[in-house]
Amino acid sequence: MNLQSRNQQVAALGHTVYDVAIIGGGINGACLYHHLCARGYSVLLLDKGDFGGGTSQASAMMIWGGLLYLRNWDVRTVRRLCVSRDRMMRDLGEWVEPRRFRYLPLKSGGRSKTLVRGALYLYWLLGGCSRSLPRRQNDFDEQAFLKREQFAASLTYEEACVAPSDARFVLSWLLAHRGPQQVALNHCALEGGVHDRGDRRWTLEVKDSLTHTEHRVHARWVVNAAGVWTDAVNQRFGIETPCKHLLSKGAWIGIKRHPNHHDPLLFDTTNNGDSMSLIPWGPIALWGPTETIVEAPEGGFATQPDDIRFLLDELNRHLRQPLTPADVVSLRCGVRPLVVERSFQHNGHSLDLSRRHRICRDRDRPWISVFGGKLTNCVGLANEVARLISAVCAPTRVPPPRHECRRRWPIATEDPERTMYPTLAERFPSARWCAEHEMCRRLEDYLRRRTNIAQWVPRGGLGAQGEHRAQLAEIAQAFSQYGDDSARAQVAAYEEQIQACFDDVLAAC
Ligand SMILES: Cc1cc2nc3c(=O)[nH]c(=O)nc-3n(C[C@H](O)[C@H](O)[C@H](O)COP(=O)(O)OP(=O)(O)OC[C@H]3O[C@@H](n4cnc5c(N)ncnc54)[C@H](O)[C@@H]3O)c2cc1C
Repeated sequence: MNLQSRNQQVAALGHTVYDVAIIGGGINGACLYHHLCARGYSVLLLDKGDFGGGTSQASAMMIWGGLLYLRNWDVRTVRRLCVSRDRMMRDLGEWVEPRRFRYLPLKSGGRSKTLVRGALYLYWLLGGCSRSLPRRQNDFDEQAFLKREQFAASLTYEEACVAPSDARFVLSWLLAHRGPQQVALNHCALEGGVHDRGDRRWTLEVKDSLTHTEHRVHARWVVNAAGVWTDAVNQRFGIETPCKHLLSKGAWIGIKRHPNHHDPLLFDTTNNGDSMSLIPWGPIALWGPTETIVEAPEGGFATQPDDIRFLLDELNRHLRQPLTPADVVSLRCGVRPLVVERSFQHNGHSLDLSRRHRICRDRDRPWISVFGGKLTNCVGLANEVARLISAVCAPTRVPPPRHECRRRWPIATEDPERTMYPTLAERFPSARWCAEHEMCRRLEDYLRRRTNIAQWVPRGGLGAQGEHRAQLAEIAQAFSQYGDDSARAQVAAYEEQIQACFDDVLAAC
């Protein structure tokens, strides 16, 4: 879609009364969009940034049963997540791949080996014995780069991961349904609005940051799926809920992957009986995450020097060759939306809080708020909200696109034009193709979410010495039409962002 058709689409928003407006294009909003569209609802989804640009681009990408939540005996959540995991592995084979995980109990300190083994068997049972039986393994390839003497024998068990990334998984739910009555718009924020009881519809004020224009749109129902911003959006509309979000920051570092690193590794930490993972992902491995409470969402999305120091210290306890900040290829950081009662006062460790989700329907107005939610249970959550809506609101019955039967599951990208990037073996969908077919509007959208370039190549894809600047300028040409900036100006602005969020943070470590 070029700029002109996007402008027409934005200008036409006010002509339709949508059945449902979804606020937030993270995994919860995107998966719900798909489920409502497939039921024939007219739906408008808005995201103030890019799709998947919030917490859903910073996960471990695991589709898992929540093994670690067994530490609080949260058996119900674990059972529910195991069922979701297995269903996604069965139905979403294109996106969700089975993966062997390796737990590495410490020889001294850390959790008791017997306890870990018992927990893994319990976990396997709670998963309905559907995954491979946990196994003890004394010798494994990853010992090549680990301090072998620190670990008792490893224990393997089976989970799944989304591929090629969490952000692309989010996008996949949005691509199948596109038409005048089923619209997903990125870079378009909800700013305010009112509900008219007489007309029984919302008038919402939205601001498009690409065209710098403001619009009014109408919807019968609103679903607030704004992740860690859910409470702020509710507050703006005077919506009160019995629960709220507690915000827990999770930071990762990306390091060069060792050739012998095949399986995600799980280690006990020195901290609060927590665990951390080293997850192989393309040419890098992700190490983390941290778990710290933050007051406001914005601060939680920025990695701080303290996060990196902590992560490197923890990692170096296990590695034969210690790493320094200079070895960090990329940073990744998100904020977990954890559900607590409104009166909850935090004074413990956030890992002790349940990872369940909650859906709250307002008593007076047609407004639903989504709290919590994980990649792993996105389908269950979407079905729950869609059932709630279908009980009170009949769909317009938007016919499915002619070329498509109504799909239950997201589409794989249809044979995109592909391109190479220096130093990477993988071929990615080209920038031009992503701009045309995948609602990719900015250089950062492409490098960080349509492809994994920003996470796999040092300094957000620029290269350690800025050697890929010319390549970036070529890519940026595909997005010049969506903003006032020339390709060179886009690269300059991107470089400034990398300087502030990557170079300066590492230099302060
Ligand atoms: C470190 C870490 C690791 C994790 N690992 C896993 C894992 O391995 N497996 C798993 O299942 N889960 C994992 N999770 C949890 C999971 O990633 C999140 O719970 C999930 O991504 C939250 O999705 P969401 O859609 O609720 O929020 P988000 O992805 O944050 O989406 C909310 C969206 O709302 C938009 N928005 C906000 N305000 C407005 C507005 N006014 N107008 C328009 N749009 C707005 C934002 O731009 C954002 O894109 C992890 C989380 C973290 C932090």
